[in-house]
Amino acid sequence: MVKRYYCDFCDCSYPYSDEAFKKHRTGHHHIKQRRAHYDKFKNARERLEDEAKKSKCRRFLSGQECSFGDSCVFSHLTQAGTEALQQLALEEERQERKMQIPTAQRRT
Ligand SMILES: [Zn+2]
Ligand SMILES: [Zn+2]
Repeated sequence: MVKRYYCDFCDCSYPYSDEAFKKHRTGHHHIKQRRAHYDKFKNARERLEDEAKKSKCRRFLSGQECSFGDSCVFSHLTQAGTEALQQLALEEERQERKMQIPTAQRRT
């Protein structure tokens, strides 16, 4: 019987072999799924930093369709999107500070 390898990120299984494994891990679909998986745990501040590291996708930001979509190596963040993320980051930091106050010191 062929051993099957299950990929958590892609939620799929495939017959296991070193070659298939290597091929899967470097596949476009897998990389995209993996990134989406980790992005879920990123907060707004981290996402902002990520986007700041990328150069802008000229195609997307000039209003054209970018066929790479979410997996584009360039940033698809618009000015409005950046501002929204900054707001979100501030909000998250406020929430975090609130949680760090020990219960004893919190006035009820
Ligand atoms: Zn996968
Ligand atoms: Zn793009």
